Amino acid sequence: MAFDLKALLRPHIANIKPYSSARDEYSGKEGIFLDANENPFGSATAEDFNRYPDPYQWAIKEKLAIVKDVRPNQIFIGNGSDEAIDLLIRAFCRPGKDNVILLPPTYGMYEVSAEINDIQIKKVNLSTDYQLRPDAILAATDEFTKIIFICSPNNPSGNKVAREDIRKILENFKGLVVVDEAYTDFSDEPSFTTELDQYPNLLVMQTFSKAWGLASLRLGMAFASAEIIKILNLIKPPYNISGLTQQKALEALEGKEKMESLVKDILLEREYLWQELTHLEFVLHIYPSHANFLLVKVTAARKIYDFLIDSQIIVRDRSKVLLCDDCLRISVGTREENVALIKTLKKFPVVG
Ligand SMILES: *Cc1c(COP(=O)(O)O)cnc(C)c1O
Repeated sequence: MAFDLKALLRPHIANIKPYSSARDEYSGKEGIFLDANENPFGSATAEDFNRYPDPYQWAIKEKLAIVKDVRPNQIFIGNGSDEAIDLLIRAFCRPGKDNVILLPPTYGMYEVSAEINDIQIKKVNLSTDYQLRPDAILAATDEFTKIIFICSPNNPSGNKVAREDIRKILENFKGLVVVDEAYTDFSDEPSFTTELDQYPNLLVMQTFSKAWGLASLRLGMAFASAEIIKILNLIKPPYNISGLTQQKALEALEGKEKMESLVKDILLEREYLWQELTHLEFVLHIYPSHANFLLVKVTAARKIYDFLIDSQIIVRDRSKVLLCDDCLRISVGTREENVALIKTLKKFPVVG
């Protein structure tokens, strides 16, 4: 199906003149910089942060392009994935008019962002084994449907979504298909970034918050065609990633081995946690996980949640979420944390 990016874009966005920052107008590194009303003497901190950062984070993108095997102009860096979600909705969806399709149970930010922007939400539930229902999804689209959000591996269920189903949607929907791969580093499934050149309507989101262990920095990535990335750059706040964050991201990208070793530790612990949980009487089912958490069906979710809270162990009660009845979502901890969790769970009084 032919993809027409210009037709998809909100018409007024195409005519916006971007804010031209001092760093846009002169991007040289050497000189006497009297153009941005910065403080020339330094900073009120020990380290200097007195100069505005690179608005396009090119140093990060050049390194990341190698790590992810994409071109630097196919990358957008946001203040968390949240920023990319919000920018996409604002770029493509007309408030009060257009709609997006969400696939519950899934990540909550798509809905929040759509609601903030007054965008109608259509929901097409996943199947009971948390897979897409591509025919139902495509049937739910109409001429006002601009974006379909797919999360794989999915949060809160942890499974990967069948690749063929995602392809079917990419091939039969003329709007934008967002594949949120926040947990991709914990999965054996190849990233959809390998398919960007085939699908002009594909945008892949990833994050530094999980495998890279940098949740506090607020750093999300989006990968798409250079044309889509250009639109995100046009409407983002000019200096959306701080200089300090850029510095830390570069440091992380220097030593990709550190991230890989963190992932290895988490995968080992995921297996340990899985094994230990299977021995507990009140655990009914542990869902297969391609992420750094386990969705666990138990006999009394709220009671177990409260029991853990009494020992200051905090898991996520998902028992009120659609298709997640009686489920707790447990992030994989360190060995010490996992041992403490299991030790406490073993004390949970099972009645009857
Ligand atoms: C954790 C998570 C993110 C990451 O969000 P950031 O804003 O980058 O921290 C994105 N998508 C899903 C599905 C997640 O679970």
